[in-house]
Amino acid sequence: MNGFYERTTKDSINIDPLQTGGKLSEEARRALMEWGDGYSVCDFCPGTLDKIKTPPIYEFVYEELPRFLGSDVARVTNGAREGKFAIMHGIAAGCEKKTIVMDANAHYSSYVAAERAGLNIILVPNSGYPEYRIDPEGYSEIIDTRDDVVLALITYPDGNYGNLPDVRKIAKICRKKGVPLLLNAAYAIGRMPVKMRELKADFIVGSGHKSMASAGPVGVMGMREEFAEPILRKSKKYPAKEVELIGCTARGVTIMTLIASFPYVQERIKRWGEEVEKARYFSKRMEDFGMLQLGEKPHNHDLMFFESEILYNISKKAKGGRFFLYRELKKRKIHGIKPGLTRYFKLSTYGLKEEEVEYVINSFEEIVSQYTETA
Ligand SMILES: *Cc1c(COP(=O)(O)O)cnc(C)c1O
Repeated sequence: MNGFYERTTKDSINIDPLQTGGKLSEEARRALMEWGDGYSVCDFCPGTLDKIKTPPIYEFVYEELPRFLGSDVARVTNGAREGKFAIMHGIAAGCEKKTIVMDANAHYSSYVAAERAGLNIILVPNSGYPEYRIDPEGYSEIIDTRDDVVLALITYPDGNYGNLPDVRKIAKICRKKGVPLLLNAAYAIGRMPVKMRELKADFIVGSGHKSMASAGPVGVMGMREEFAEPILRKSKKYPAKEVELIGCTARGVTIMTLIASFPYVQERIKRWGEEVEKARYFSKRMEDFGMLQLGEKPHNHDLMFFESEILYNISKKAKGGRFFLYRELKKRKIHGIKPGLTRYFKLSTYGLKEEEVEYVINSFEEIVSQYTETA
């Protein structure tokens, strides 16, 4: 298998939103080597994975994680989607109501998790081009007209436009109508400060490999105490095992990278203001030479969606067609925009150094001017 031991993109500047927040810390890189063997964390398991004291999984799950998430109770999962599914399935299991309301910007995994949990899905529309905002009143309108809503979900931010909706307002609406709210914070937890309690949500999920500098798959979830019983109920036959988690979730190296990166992650979220400034600067510079940033403006997150008629027009004539952009960026050691995309693409400036931001902007500008001159 050629090229198996070497990842060719590792020396590039990576602007793939999926990957910028998942780069390992030095500590996690060490943990990866130390704990790589199969069920390595289970050396001293007392019967429940998250009660393991050595390594300090218990302390992480029962003390540090709930404090970090602003929840009463927390668990480590195998990813944001596994957390969402456990919550949806657990809450629907003991309830006649079978409808979930979610924002139209929801991630496909929210939709598919709801399908798997047997829920009927209703979407709160977004405002459409160019900002795609979610109006909190949309939740009110749907919940008011139905009596079968068991759960509401809001994506914070969404993975397409990087919009941060008004969760407090949505939570207030949901609470008034007695519908619990699940906050999908896969792109927030580990990048920016977010506390479930302050936002008044009832559940929260995050993604370790997306935003918490961890090897994947791994995730986190938090909830209010009153929901611990339906979601974290124990098996009748195996009373140490939680049913919705199928007994044990992350049971090897992934949880160790999550724990190893945790101090680093707690420090980096303090610099979130700088990340937002960086993203706004990037957006403005790109717009100066004709790119259009869609989604909220001014933007509040490092994930940005661009529309580019210029690059699209170039692609119609360029050698190699629509793959020219990928090729030009690759030549400049910039990775992360999918091969073939020119008119619409997303990227992230998270964690980039100042000179890297300049380099990426200048590269785009150079590509545009190079092709417009020769056209
Ligand atoms: C990436 C992403 C997910 C999926 O996260 P996993 O941890 O891989 O399950 C869910 N929701 C949103 C909004 C995402 O961007």
